Amino acid sequence: MEKKNLDWANLSFSYMKTDKRFVANYRNGAWDDGQLTDDDKVVITECAGVLQYSQSCFEGLKAYTTEDGHVVCFRPDLNGQRMEDSCRRLEMPVFPTERFVDAVVETVKANLAWVPPYGSGATLYIRPYMFGSSAVIGVKPAEEYQFRILVTPVGPYFKGGAKPIVIRVSDFDRAAPHGTGHIKAGLNYAMSLHPIMDAHRQGYAENMYLDPATRTKVEETGGANFIFITKDGILVTPKSESILPSITRRSLLYVAEHYLGMKVEEREVPLAEVPSFAEVGLCGTAAVISPVGKIVNHDQEICVPSGMDNMGPVLTKLYDTLTGIQMGRIEAPEGWIKRIA
Ligand SMILES: *Cc1c(COP(=O)(O)O)cnc(C)c1O
Repeated sequence: MEKKNLDWANLSFSYMKTDKRFVANYRNGAWDDGQLTDDDKVVITECAGVLQYSQSCFEGLKAYTTEDGHVVCFRPDLNGQRMEDSCRRLEMPVFPTERFVDAVVETVKANLAWVPPYGSGATLYIRPYMFGSSAVIGVKPAEEYQFRILVTPVGPYFKGGAKPIVIRVSDFDRAAPHGTGHIKAGLNYAMSLHPIMDAHRQGYAENMYLDPATRTKVEETGGANFIFITKDGILVTPKSESILPSITRRSLLYVAEHYLGMKVEEREVPLAEVPSFAEVGLCGTAAVISPVGKIVNHDQEICVPSGMDNMGPVLTKLYDTLTGIQMGRIEAPEGWIKRIA
């Protein structure tokens, strides 16, 4: 198979139309078989549930080429399970995890020419999503839904190494207790656009959101979970019902414990404890780990001891181990790597 002629290492994180996408429709209480199509346009009624009441959710994962030349993706079953959870909370029909994984595999196989080569740092970003497609005017769930998967090649998240970022403690809240913070709903992102644009205008890369009930505990950013390293080398990550359960974070915890012999703690993290940590990172599919160098809380500046030049040593070890597992350089735990080609 001939690869597309793209400048892989210099791709940005943006949408590019590829050859095929997967589409399945839910009608009369059941999903159809779904199919691949060339058609990138979605045609729905002007009164569709997604347009009126934002009934939508999504997932994000990557396919990439391993050192020995296979195309794989990382723990897609967990994305499928998380999408099931999102659907249940939004009164949408579940697209079963087994079918989700099959559809991911089928879509990537149909776009193999777009999967970046090993060593380029680029990956094929996979975006499964679902929305209410039938007309709704009174507030209620739609009766028909569409599940789609699109793929687009994206460049390395960090060009020229991961530089620590400066973030701020947000005065806006992200997710109420007992709300929708734990699911990947489009509405969580719609309401985060103003806080993130405001942060960028003030010179910050991301927002650190606190728990809205007490505003004393760390939750997460708009699209990544926090991991902290104590001065004693313990990995600490916030525990809260309103945090999105990042697959990267769950994988890093496992790697820390079982590959690196570290102690890990998933517990409440008071904002007041943050100045005592040695390293701070954000984790998610896109960057795996982004180091945080400074956290600004109004007139208080928390300078992370690992500094503004490089990722700290413990986060670097975690990053190298997890990306080594993903790229096939280090043996993966059973079931983590789904081979596609
Ligand atoms: C998607 C997402 C993450 C990261 O999850 P991964 O599964 O690691 O990609 C973290 N926080 C939020 C709010 C997210 O939407």
